[in-house]
Amino acid sequence: MINFNSFLLYTGVALLTLLLSTPGYSQEIHSQPEHFCATPPERDERLNYYQQNLGNYRFLTDDTQFIPLKIHILGRNDGTGYTSRTMVEEAFCKMNEAFQQTGIQFFIKGEINYINNTEWYSHSSFGPGSEMILTNNVPGALNSYIVDVAAGACGYYSPATDGVVLANNCLDPANHTWAHEIGHQLTLPHTFFGWEGTTYEPDEPTPERIWFRGGWVDVEKMDGSNCREAADGFCDTAPDYLSFRWGCSANNPLGIFLTDPLGETERVNGANIMSYSSGPCRHDFSEEQTQAMRMNILLDRPDLVDQTIEYGPVAPEVNIIHPTQDDIVQYDDAYLKWESVPNATYYRVQVSALPIFTNLLVDEVVQDTFMQLPQLILENEHLVRIKPLSEFQPCNDFSERRAFIASELSNTELFPGTDFKMKVVNPASLNRGVDIELKGLEESDLRSVRIHLSDINGRLVSQLESQQFTGNKVHFETGRLAAGIYVVTLITESGGSISERVILQ
Ligand SMILES: [Zn+2]
Repeated sequence: MINFNSFLLYTGVALLTLLLSTPGYSQEIHSQPEHFCATPPERDERLNYYQQNLGNYRFLTDDTQFIPLKIHILGRNDGTGYTSRTMVEEAFCKMNEAFQQTGIQFFIKGEINYINNTEWYSHSSFGPGSEMILTNNVPGALNSYIVDVAAGACGYYSPATDGVVLANNCLDPANHTWAHEIGHQLTLPHTFFGWEGTTYEPDEPTPERIWFRGGWVDVEKMDGSNCREAADGFCDTAPDYLSFRWGCSANNPLGIFLTDPLGETERVNGANIMSYSSGPCRHDFSEEQTQAMRMNILLDRPDLVDQTIEYGPVAPEVNIIHPTQDDIVQYDDAYLKWESVPNATYYRVQVSALPIFTNLLVDEVVQDTFMQLPQLILENEHLVRIKPLSEFQPCNDFSERRAFIASELSNTELFPGTDFKMKVVNPASLNRGVDIELKGLEESDLRSVRIHLSDINGRLVSQLESQQFTGNKVHFETGRLAAGIYVVTLITESGGSISERVILQ
C-alpha cells in the first residue's frame, strides 16, 4: 500500500510551486489554490465491503444520523489570521445542506477550538498537517481544521490521522469543498478514481485500464458493464475521467464528451460532489455513495452515533423585551433583554447607529438573553437585531429590527441645578439583590427621597427610606422574589418620581 508520504512525493513538485506566496500576504487577496483536493487517492478497504453489501445494509436504519463535528480554526502564533466564525458557520450550513439528501446531518460539537500555530496555519506539506490533526483531534467527533494554506490545495482528508483540512479561501459555498472532503472521510473516492495525475486526452483512444500507484485500475465503461470493479466502484455514478478542475453552471452539469474504451461517447456529468467540476452544478451524492457513507458511520464509526439526540429547529423570531420600539434609553447605560427562543443555545446580537447594519457598534455572540450595551451615540436612533442559533443550526435569519433612541436621561428636572442621575445595576441577581446609586445629589436632597421596588404590574414589593441608604447607595434584598423584570422608582418629597427597569435573574 502506498502511504501518505509517497503521495506527497508524487504530487510534491506541483504542490510546492503553489506556495511561493509573499510572506505577510493577507488572506483576503489570496487566489484559490490551483489544486482542488489533495486527499491521497487511495481506496478505503472498508469501501470494498460496503460495495459488496449495498443491498444488505440498505435498511439498516432510515433515521437521520446526527453526527458531532469538531471545528478547529487555526491562527498564527500571535493569534491573528483566524477565519471569521460567521464564514465558517455559513460554510458548515452549506455542507449540511449538501448532506441533507443523505440523511446525515452534522452538528458543531462544543465550542469552536481556536489554535495558534503558524506552522500548522500555513502548511505547504502534509507533515505539519498530520501533526496538527494528531495533536488536536477530539474523539467522538469528526474533526475539521480551517487553515490558511492546506498543502497547496483547497482541502484534503488525511486518512492516516482522520482529519479534514480546509483552506479558508475555498470556503465559498459554491465550491462544496467541505462536503467533498467529508465525503472522502466517510470513504468515498473521486468519481474519476484512477485518473488522479493522468490527464484525459479526448483525441487519443481511451485505455481499458490505467496504471495507478502501483496497480491497474479499470476505466469505467459507458454501458455500466464494469461499474463495480472500475473507478470508484459505484454503479450509479456516471463514468468520469476528468481529474482537473472544470467549469459547469447551475442548470447544466454536463461538460466535454468522454469516449470510453469501447468507443461509446457521453458528456461528463459534474453534478456529483465527488467530481472535480467547479461551480454551482455540484450538489449530489448518489444513492450508493449515500449507503456507503451511512454504513461507514453505523458500522465503523459507532462512537459518533448517539440515537438520543433530538434536533429542534430554531425559529428566527425573537421577542425583544427591552428596549421597546422607539424607547429612549440612557446612552451610556443601556441594555438589551430578550425572551429565550426555543432550541436556541446562543445568539448573535448586532446594534447599528445607522439605518443599515454596517459599522456595527455591537456584533457579538452570547449565550445569555441579556446584554449591557457599550456607550451609544447621543441623540441618535439605533437599531438592534438578534439571530437565534444552535449547534445544529448555526445559520438563521435575523429577527425583525427594533429601533430606539440613545439620550441623556439625567432627570435634572427632579432636582434643578444638579447633575442627578439614578444608576440601577442591570441585570441584578436574586442572590446579591438590587443595587442603585444616586449620583450628583446633595445630602439634603438625598434625605428627602424614598425608593420603591415594584413588579412589572405595578405591585409594590419593597421600599426603602433615605435613612436605610448607605450614603448614596441603595440596596434591596431580593432573596424572596421570583426572577423577572421589576421597576425601581425614586420618589421625592414633593411627589416627583423617576423609574427604571431592573432585571432579576
Ligand atoms: Zn477529493
